[in-house]
Amino acid sequence: MSTKPIDRLMFAQGGLCFFCQDPLPPSEATVEHLVATANGGTNDFDNCVACCKTLNSLLGHMSLKEKLRVVLNQKGDFKCPKSAQAAAPKTTGSNGVVDRFELVIADLRKRAATRPRTTKTLKSSIKSLFKKQLTEHELESLLGKLKSEGIVNVTGAKVTYEIPAVK
Ligand SMILES: [Zn+2]
Repeated sequence: MSTKPIDRLMFAQGGLCFFCQDPLPPSEATVEHLVATANGGTNDFDNCVACCKTLNSLLGHMSLKEKLRVVLNQKGDFKCPKSAQAAAPKTTGSNGVVDRFELVIADLRKRAATRPRTTKTLKSSIKSLFKKQLTEHELESLLGKLKSEGIVNVTGAKVTYEIPAVK
């Protein structure tokens, strides 16, 4: 029995997307040819990586040079564009706290005028954002980070926000 190329790649990459290193569900995993087959790239193991479907279609037939530019343009943590179904917040992994922090900020940015006005509602909205998978301790540390970075200002029971602009 032979192993499919995608399975070999997924095994070699520890089940993570080559570009963003997020866990890659089999339904999202595709073979990306670094040098596109349209540009003469081969199916060799060395020319292939497993990555998210959405990113694969975005990279399309770009040259390797253009692809590198796309990756470098992210200036640091590379995040693949995710299709809606794969965009569930990540709550595990070593970067869990940072990812959650970014998610909370993104959520607050999106909510604009409907942001929670009290600590209590802010906490429950963060909890529901993560589908109640946060421990009380994790919630407090998220809130602590939001306060210490000046994004959330608490006066008595009231909460105001200073959401940083999109980078
Ligand atoms: Zn990815």
